[in-house]
Formats: sequence, structure tokens, C-alpha cells
Amino acid sequence: MTSIAERPGVTTYQQFIDGQWVDALSGATFTRTSPYDGSVVGVYPNSGIEDAERAIRAARRAFDETSWPTSPAADRARILRRAADLLAERADAFATCIAAEVGKPKTMALGEVMATAEVFQLFAAKALNLKGESFTQQIPDAVGIVAHEPVGVVGIITPWNFPLLLISWKIGPAIAAGCTMVAKPSHYTPGSTLMLAGLLAEAGLPDGVFNVVTSETDNGALVGQHIAASELVDKVAFTGSTASGKAVMRAAANNVKKVSLELGGKSPNIVFPDAALDAAVAGAFFGIYLNSGQVCQAGSRLLVAKPIKDEFVAKLTALSQTLKLGDPFDPATTMGPVINENQLAKIESYLERGRQEAKLLTGGSRATDPGLEKGLFVKPTIFDEVPAQATIAREEIFGPVLSVLSFDNLDDVIRIANDTMYGLAAAVWTKDINVALKVAKGLRAGTVWVNAYHSTGLYNMPYGGYKQSGLGRELGDLGLEEYMETKSIQIKLQ
Ligand code: NAD
Repeated sequence: MTSIAERPGVTTYQQFIDGQWVDALSGATFTRTSPYDGSVVGVYPNSGIEDAERAIRAARRAFDETSWPTSPAADRARILRRAADLLAERADAFATCIAAEVGKPKTMALGEVMATAEVFQLFAAKALNLKGESFTQQIPDAVGIVAHEPVGVVGIITPWNFPLLLISWKIGPAIAAGCTMVAKPSHYTPGSTLMLAGLLAEAGLPDGVFNVVTSETDNGALVGQHIAASELVDKVAFTGSTASGKAVMRAAANNVKKVSLELGGKSPNIVFPDAALDAAVAGAFFGIYLNSGQVCQAGSRLLVAKPIKDEFVAKLTALSQTLKLGDPFDPATTMGPVINENQLAKIESYLERGRQEAKLLTGGSRATDPGLEKGLFVKPTIFDEVPAQATIAREEIFGPVLSVLSFDNLDDVIRIANDTMYGLAAAVWTKDINVALKVAKGLRAGTVWVNAYHSTGLYNMPYGGYKQSGLGRELGDLGLEEYMETKSIQIKLQ
């Protein structure tokens, strides 16, 4: 095992199609540079449509011409459990790859790897519990069986912020159900998905069941579109921006394939006057700064009750200033850079906008302190007195930038919180169970935490968005149903 501080070298990858490691048919490659210091961390095949087609056909053959879709559920569960064990054994190597490509602290990347192993365990258990329904008492001379079957070939398109965890939310149920897959990871972070392809093969996944193609930026969208539109693909599972999600949904209309989308957010984090103040401050801090704010469910709109707002914001500002920006491979680092130059430029334009729209309390610019000059760092930023209609209160920034708003009462805060095109997540901090439940019921969001942000440790609940934050659910039983078709078998008794 390497230590957290050990720096990785440059890794050259091939993509994984039909159980084989292969280059792009054109021979083209692309590189990923570290957002921390600009050094090259990986070289990957730059696939085009012809490579995607090869991968899709491999997945189609594995579904139509092998026994995989009808294999015993116990075998599929065993593969998932073995994959979880192998991930735990190799957590260090996976975390090194994630930290190098994403720039997140390796300590946090290790957490992502272990959470991924947990997801595989959860879906192994679900595979063993697959069942249908029967209708035996409706009428005397007929019996009905409701059977659930794998949906077929699944196209998987994923983003860069949690490159391993978010793909496991798709691979776990797809394997449990008996589907085959073609994955296209983000061009910024393909390494861990390719490593996972090898690990799954080692865990016993048959050739052709999981295929991966990698493509640089523009090819990435082309290849993503090709997978989403393909008549040989039965479902597409996408995580990424709302704009790309809409493009995926339009392409998927080509053969009316099933679609699940996990998209963006502008999630409200609501603090009532009776909240346990220090816990709520810590929750707001974690809610916005985890992964440098590059989290779909980030608590980027903090709504604090007027009587406690100033005290709350003072504490949060002081805490924000304790974050240590730096090398992802330095164990002391608590916040890494943002993912790429485009994202940095986008965040900087929101910072400029924020200075016009609201009151800057801390941060507000790129961080270029000694040691950070080569990196894409943004100072942890808090804007106070943000009007509800301000751009920084409405648009997803996807960086360490918090907008603070205040409210008078319960009805007021529910109205402000719901005044958004998004509906991914929300949190409410209060000791009053009635207030907590009234807010939770009033919010149009797929997840509502009470006295927590990002997680309570309940990993197996359905996850997804209301409104333009998505379609369908991942994790939980619903997350498995997304990978299954339903068949009604009606039997007339003779
Ligand atoms: P993105 O939409 O740019 O890219 C996501 C993936 O889609 C990449 O693999 C990319 O190559 C591909 N892609 C891009 N354009 C495409 C197109 N037209 N057709 C098909 N595929 C296309 O998103 P990103 O920048 O990688 O990730 C950030 C976004 O993802 C944020 O908006 C964030 O909120 C969202 N996100 C959501 C969740 C969630 O679970 N809801 C989780 C993580 C990230």
C-alpha cells in the first residue's frame, strides 16, 4: 500500500470492450492533467462513434446470445460481493487514481471507494431478494404472474465529481438485474471506471457484460449522444448537468428507450432559531465545501432565520477560513482544486456577479497563495444578504460558493426554498419535530435531511430529483426497478 502522501505517476490506459483491453480504432489518445499542478496524470484512448458501436454490439451480444440475463441471481450476487471485497483490498490504488484525476484529497477519495464497495454489497443483497407477484384469488379460472426481467443493454454516462461512486449506483443494479452495459465516463476522470472494468472481470463478470469507452471533450458528447440514441440500447442512465441530461433525453426518444437522469441542483439548507447551532454550522460547512462544492446536492443556498442569522454566519465564516487548500496527496489538505479551467472561469464569473448582487463575507476569488499557484483553487466563499432573485441564489455554481438568505417564518422559508427549477435535496435544522416535518412535507425535493447534510448514514434510500433535477431514482428498491422490465403473465386454467 502507498501512503496518502505518495504521488502517482502517469498511467496509460486502454478501454475495455468484450472482455479485452483495446485502443481506440483510430489509435488516438488524450491526456488528463492534474487540476492541482497541471502535470499529466493519465493517457486514455480517444474513442469515436465506431468504438462506441463496437462496445454497444458487444453488450447487445452478451445480452441476446449468452446466459447472463438468466443466470442464477446467486451468481450475480457473488460477483458483486467479490467486487466489493476487491475494491476494499485495492482502495488505495483506486483512491490514488481518483485524487489525481479529480484533485480531491486522497483521504476523501478513500471514503468514496469504500462507499462504492458498500453499494455493491447492497445490490448483492437485492439480487438475492429478486421476486415477482402472483394473482391467484381474483377469479376462479385464471392465475397471473408479474415477472420482473432485466431491461437489456444499458448505456451509462457519468460525470467527474464522484467518478467511482456515481457509476456504482448504475452498475450495482444493472448486475443485480442481469443487464449488460456500455459506460462512457467523463473525459476528466476515466481512470477509476477503467480500473473497475478490470476488477469486475476478475470478480467473475462475463465478457461483454461491462464495456467502457473513453473519449475527450467533444468526442465525449458525440459518443454520449450515440449511446443515448442507439437502437441497440434499451435504457440510458445519465448523471451530469441538466443541459446535457436534456440532450440525452432527446436522443433517447429515438427508440423510446428508458431514461434515468440525475442532474443539477441548488439545494436549500434551512436553519431555524432553535437549531443546535454548532451542529448546524458544521452541517452548513460540510454541505457547501465537500469536494470543493462540486456536489450536485451541495447546500449552496443557506436560509437562516433572521434572529440568528448574524451569529450563524459569523461562526460559519470563521470555520470556512480554517479550510486547508492544497495538494490532494498531502494528508493535511481538506479542500482540493476545482476540476478544470472552464469550471474555474465559470465560478470566477459567478464571484464577480456575486460581488454586485450581495455582500461578500469571505473568499471571493481564485486562491494563488504560495504552493497553490499552479492549481485551479477557489477560496471558500460566502455571500450574505443575497436576494432570492439574484443569479447566485438561482443558478448552480458547482464550486465552494455559498449564498446566504434569511427568512421570517415557516411559510416564508418553504416558499423561498421551492422557488427554483431544481429539486434534488434540502435540509432543515430544528429541534421541533413538527417544524421539521412541516418543512420536509412542504419541500419539492427528492431528499430532505433533518439535522444533517449530505448523509445520515442511511445509504440505501432512493435518491433522485424533483423538477429539473432528474428523472427516476437510484439506490434503494426503486433504484433496482429502473433496471427491470415488468411482464404480466396471464394463465387461463383449463
Ligand atoms: P456534463 O453534463 O458536462 O457531463 C456529464 C457526462 O455527460 C460526461 O460523461 C459527458 O461527456 C457527457 N455528455 C456531455 N454532453 C453530452 C451530450 N450532449 N450527450 C450525451 N452525453 C454528454 O456534467 P459534468 O460537468 O461532468 O458534471 C457536473 C454536473 O453534473 C453538475 O450539473 C452536477 O449537478 C451534475 N451532477 C448531478 C449528480 C446527481 O446525482 N444528481 C451527481 C453529480 C453531478
